[in-house]
Amino acid sequence: MIVTTCKDMGGPCDAEIKGNTPEEVIENGNTHVMSTDDEAHKKIVEDMKNMSPEEMAAWSANEKARLEGLAQGEDRPMTDEERHEEKEVEMI
Ligand SMILES: [Zn+2]
Repeated sequence: MIVTTCKDMGGPCDAEIKGNTPEEVIENGNTHVMSTDDEAHKKIVEDMKNMSPEEMAAWSANEKARLEGLAQGEDRPMTDEERHEEKEVEMI
């Protein structure tokens, strides 16, 4: 499972975007941006529409590389469950 945020993908908010593959995360990110009805997200959708296919491909390649890095677990934010487990270990 890969977890990133709207902001990390170039968006305006901190909503978590998840997926099992980089492609899935990008798809979920697009869905999130398009289904969030505020000015900041509408602007991103507009920007995306104005991108050339080359720009879009470059963005997508960059983003896939970054998400693959996250998939290796190098820079993954901890889930609430993991944080909880860590606290319990400290108490023992
Ligand atoms: Zn967002």
